[in-house]
Amino acid sequence: MKRWQKALLNNYGTPSIELVSGKGSFVTDIDGKSYLDFLAGIATNVLGHAHPAVVKAVTKQVATLGHVSNFYAHPNGLELAEKLQKITGDKSARIFFCNSGAEANEAALKLSRKTGKYKIVATQEAFHGRTMGALSLTGQPSKRNPFKPLLKGVKHVPFGDSLAMKRAISKKTAMVIVEPIMGEAGVIVPPADYLKNLREYCDRSGALLVIDCVQTGMGRTGDWFGYEYSGIKPDVITLAKGLGGGLPLGAMIAIGSAAQLFEAGDHGTTFGGNPIATAAGLAVISTIEKEKILDNVDAVGEYLLTELALIPGVIEVRGAGLLIGLTLEKPVAKAVLKKCQELGSLINAPGESVIRLAPALNLSMKNAEKFVKIFTQALQEVSHV
Ligand SMILES: *Cc1c(COP(=O)(O)O)cnc(C)c1O
Repeated sequence: MKRWQKALLNNYGTPSIELVSGKGSFVTDIDGKSYLDFLAGIATNVLGHAHPAVVKAVTKQVATLGHVSNFYAHPNGLELAEKLQKITGDKSARIFFCNSGAEANEAALKLSRKTGKYKIVATQEAFHGRTMGALSLTGQPSKRNPFKPLLKGVKHVPFGDSLAMKRAISKKTAMVIVEPIMGEAGVIVPPADYLKNLREYCDRSGALLVIDCVQTGMGRTGDWFGYEYSGIKPDVITLAKGLGGGLPLGAMIAIGSAAQLFEAGDHGTTFGGNPIATAAGLAVISTIEKEKILDNVDAVGEYLLTELALIPGVIEVRGAGLLIGLTLEKPVAKAVLKKCQELGSLINAPGESVIRLAPALNLSMKNAEKFVKIFTQALQEVSHV
């Protein structure tokens, strides 16, 4: 920890443990202590740690051709774009690869400028990234305020409130951006008709509907993309986190006329979609398909939603698939996190009384049961202090 403070910037605060290895749903720290990982690199390691398919694909690729830049095509990039087009279910979909969620949303932001308009509607408490453009979309004052002035023309309305959205959208709106479920904000689920309503308002005004699936994509909710339950088709989908199974990979998928807005030279990135990251992306998608992992997400997610709600001290459990938020009766989330760590499990506490869980999507039922035991004990011990 002293070494961290002497060498790293203080933007994260100082971590309390140092991790050195991982296998499946477990990670091991530098002292040899093992943890059941219920955060999975912040919803990133969808196949768990060191999955053989990812290890094999990446190892082979790095020994074959590591990086080429986007001046040249390469097989993995082509194949992954075709795969994403296929799971999007629309032949008009076109893919832009980048390295992170913020970059995917930056791409969407620039794409929306090509409509000739600049006004944007986003939602309060949403998280869309930390770069200046993405931060302008992010709706959390604590993250925004120190960095003002941000991009102008962005209005934030309460999440899940269709009427507020309807009032905010006009013919001048270039894009509307929402998360299907707000992850970072504490796993907040909107009313069932929310996305359908937004689709209707965007159609009426000619605004692009951008669905930020950075956290809710790649099977996290039990579907490939977190909006699918609504039956809508977005104009733009942004992805990252789970897409590379732990390697830095993001994407913007533009559909229909939105896919025609960028012209050659309009946007780019040196590393985006490089052969190694896209090798990991291909391994992620083919493993999810081959091992029927979306079915596992439904089954284990259902189990956790049910069991966690029965624990004394938990007043609400919400989410979809393996993205789960809990509200605790008391503001002890940070203490519960610490206690879980002591007892051998990693979780996230995005609020004083809010816990977020995002384990690997191939989490076994046995390890889900193990987690429920750890979490129950942690909450009990913290409540009795
Ligand atoms: C994490 C996240 C981002 C930002 O992704 P980075 O890779 O950290 O830039 C954007 N949107 C959502 C919904 C996220 O959860």
